This record gives sequence, structure tokens and C-alpha cells, in this order.
Amino acid sequence: MFLTISTTGTAEHPATDLGFLLHKHPGKAQAFSTSHGTAHVFYPVAEEQRCTAVLLLEVDPVALVRRGQGKGRTTAPDAALAQYVNDRPYAASSLFAVALGGVLRNALQGRCAARPELAERARPLRIEIPALPARGGAALVHRLFDPLGWDAVTVAPVVLDETFPEWGDSRYVRLVLEGELRLADALRQLYVLLPVLDDAKHYWIAPDEVDKLLRAGDGWLAAHPENALITSRYLARHKRLTQEALERLELVRLAEADGSEVEELDNAVPDTPEETPDDTAHDSAVRSVPLSVHRREAILAALRAAGAARVLDLGCGEGQLVQALLKDPAYTEVVGMDVSVRALHIAARRLRLDRTGERQGSRVTLLQGSLAYTDKRLAGYDAAVLSEVVEHLDPERLPALEYAVFGSAAPRTVLVTTPNVEYNVRWETLPAGHVRHGDHRFEWTRAEFRGWAGDVAARYGYGVEFVPVGEDDPEVGPPTQMAVFTATAPIAAATDQTPKEGEAA
Ligand code: SAH
Repeated sequence: MFLTISTTGTAEHPATDLGFLLHKHPGKAQAFSTSHGTAHVFYPVAEEQRCTAVLLLEVDPVALVRRGQGKGRTTAPDAALAQYVNDRPYAASSLFAVALGGVLRNALQGRCAARPELAERARPLRIEIPALPARGGAALVHRLFDPLGWDAVTVAPVVLDETFPEWGDSRYVRLVLEGELRLADALRQLYVLLPVLDDAKHYWIAPDEVDKLLRAGDGWLAAHPENALITSRYLARHKRLTQEALERLELVRLAEADGSEVEELDNAVPDTPEETPDDTAHDSAVRSVPLSVHRREAILAALRAAGAARVLDLGCGEGQLVQALLKDPAYTEVVGMDVSVRALHIAARRLRLDRTGERQGSRVTLLQGSLAYTDKRLAGYDAAVLSEVVEHLDPERLPALEYAVFGSAAPRTVLVTTPNVEYNVRWETLPAGHVRHGDHRFEWTRAEFRGWAGDVAARYGYGVEFVPVGEDDPEVGPPTQMAVFTATAPIAAATDQTPKEGEAA
């Protein structure tokens, strides 16, 4: 299978800039070995006015079958030959997407170290895939690509055999996309939609497939009218993962809808989706200060008491806490990290990172990353805050988070806040048995939280204390519970246990 990417240019903006964007030199033909075969990148045309790159994947069908073994692949006798004689080598969309993600990783992520301004700019693009397997036919191809900002989406069915037109069309179409887009946006669309159209996702669907989908879908998938079909097919119709992805996309969509107002919100108490219903719809007789404000104050007080100066806000969301920290000169360095690129965009706008002076700018960093993986960038800080974050992870991924935070990053102080599920009966607007937020994987009782925190503290060499946040109800406790962990032993002692990097998730 192959695709071509073409662009046009001028003396000022030569078409051969495509080489920088793809991180592949236009003067060379290059081959890369991937897990399913060899990927080739070469440029049939590389001129100032016009440049075309070809990405071609040569699938090794035998390796493909071997790799598939032991993963419940079909082994019925009549399927045995089909394993070797099939169309995968010629039109393997999902494999192609994997190769795209590997060979063109930087381009896909919109990174261009040599010429960063190039990656930011939309440019005239023409992408052609001569034989694209498309279950759902030309009509579906249109439904998927038409809403994505192309000037022209041309889809022509490929006949099965030109000698016998009466045999009708094959399941392949020829696709041509033309328009002005950023290359990274175009590649991310293909990375998701090629396997969706192939609808024969060959590889193992891992839990982090949802993260991958959301990353690749950043900026276009949440608002796409076919996002349910795309998500379901991309995740091989895995029900729970599809549900999870759709819920997260809905949050993204809400944030996108909110995004336009962020500038004005600036110092106001933010009304993020996270804060419904727990923070905004609460019985107003009981409180006038939103819970999110109580939470921030409790966190700031604990950080002050710990004497922290360099602070991580892990799962920083839209950056409200980061903003509050920056107002206090005691914090010399503040790092906000989140898995959601969208949230980070909003945070960057809130913090006006593009407009802050150098002095302020050097105090704050926003990072994209997941707490389900160890991350060297997080080492060496005084304190880490996980405010309303742990409940967003599947319970089976918590050990990976614990290792990433307490084992690997290992700051002296760690603050963890999470809802107290016992308090839910006090929320008038929350139906019985419901969690406070669609993305919460669980909510803990006070005893469950203490059990978890005590266990983590013991394993990683921390002491732990608990602080109620919000009105401490005599019967059901406070709405938010906070654990303050303080390292007891020299930090290094705790590092060689539990998962190694990579195993963690
Ligand atoms: N800390 C903020 C936001 C809480 S919402 C506050 O207190 O208001 C939970 C945040 O955790 C979201 O922004 C979500 O994107 C982020 N998140 C969820 N899973 C994550 C993961 N695995 N790694 C990093 N961040 C994650």
C-alpha cells in the first residue's frame, strides 16, 4: 500500500520544505524496518515549485501471520491459506497507519525542530491513496473526510477487474484529498481514518489505545459528526473502551465549546465540566464558596506548610492551580502536566504564556504526558499535587501511577485530593448511586482512600496525613478528601521496587 503527499511552493516557501516536515531528506530514498515489513520513503519530485513524497509499506505476510499467532487468530483449516494469501500486503490500512505513526512520528506530532514555524503553517496539500480498502464504500469515505476542512475530497471506486466490468466494484477506492491544511493535522486524520475504513484492525487493542485515539484526534475528532462510528471502529468495537473514548471526547467537546470564553474567565472562578455537579450545583444554603476554591486553598496551605518552591501539578487540567501558584513568588518553578492536549491549550491561554515576560515564562512549564508512565521530566521537584486526578484512571492503572509519582518522580511532598463518595448523598442534584462526573472511574469512601494512601505511603517510604476539604459533615465527612504525603526516608531508597519503565502500564 502506498500514499503520496504533494505540495506546491514558491521561491520564498519552497515545496521541498516538505522534507523538513517529514524529517526525511528529499534527496534520499530511505527504508525503515517496521514490525510488519519495510516502509520506504522517497521523493519522485523534489523541486521548488512542486514536491511529492511517497510512503510505501511492503508488508511481510509471513511475519504478519507469525506475529498473529497466540493472539486468538483464526486457525480453521480453510482459513490457513487465507492467512498467507490475502490483501494485507497490498492494502493494509491499519498496518499502514502503524507505519505512519512510526516512520513519520515527528510529522504526525507536528514537531519540526529545524523549522518550527513550518509545522504550524497550513500549506497546499494533495494526498492520494490509489487503493484504499473502504468498508462502507465511497459514501462513507465522504462522510468521514468531508467535514475535515479539505477543499476537495475525490473518491472513485476501483473496479474489481477492468476486463469484466460486470463484476462490479472491489472494496477499494482511490482517494484524493486536496486543500490547505497543516501537514500534522492531515496525517493525524489518516492515522485514525485509514484503519477505521479498513475496519479490520489487526493489532491488539490495548487500554492506551484510547489515549492514542484522543491524541491523534486532537482538534478534529470531538466535533466530528461521525465520531461514534470512528471511535467504535477504531477500537475494534470494544464496548467499554468505545464508551470511555466517547465520554472523554464529550469532555473535549465541552472544553472546546468553552474555550472561546477562557480569556475573559481569567480571574473568575472557572466553570469547567469537572465542576458539575459537585462544585456548582450544590445546595447553596450550605456554602457560598465553591468547593474548587476550598480545594485550591487547602492545597496552597499544605504546600506552604511543606516549604515547597518547585511544584508539579499533575493532571493540571486547564491550569487554575498553576495560575494561583504563579501569583505567589515563593514558587520559583511550576510545572503543569496533563494528558489532554486540549486542556493544556486552554491552560496556556489562561496563563497567557505567549504574552508573559521572560521572568514569568521561565517559572512555568506545561507538559503533555500521562501519569500511567514513568516520566524522567518529573524528577527532582519539591512537591507534586494530584488534584481530583486519581479517580480519572482505571483502578488497574493506579499501581503504574503510584510508581510514576512516588517511585520515580519522588518529590518530598505529594498532595492527593479526591471526592469522598460518602458525601454524595448530600448533593441535592446528584441521583443516588451516581458518581460526580462522567469521567470518574471510581469514587472512594474515607476508609477506602485511607487504605489506599496508607498502603502507598508504606510501600514508597512516605508518612501520610489526611485533611478534610469543604464542610466536614459529622456523618458522611467532607466533600473532598486530601492526603498529604511526606517522604520519611532518603528518597533513593524507594526506587528499585515494582514495575520498571514500560512495564508500569
Ligand atoms: N487538577 C485539576 C483538573 C482535574 S480533572 C483540578 O483540580 O481542577 C482531571 C484531569 O486529569 C484532567 O485534566 C485529565 O485530562 C487529567 N488526566 C486524566 N488521566 C490522566 C493521566 N493518565 N495522566 C495525566 N493526566 C490525566
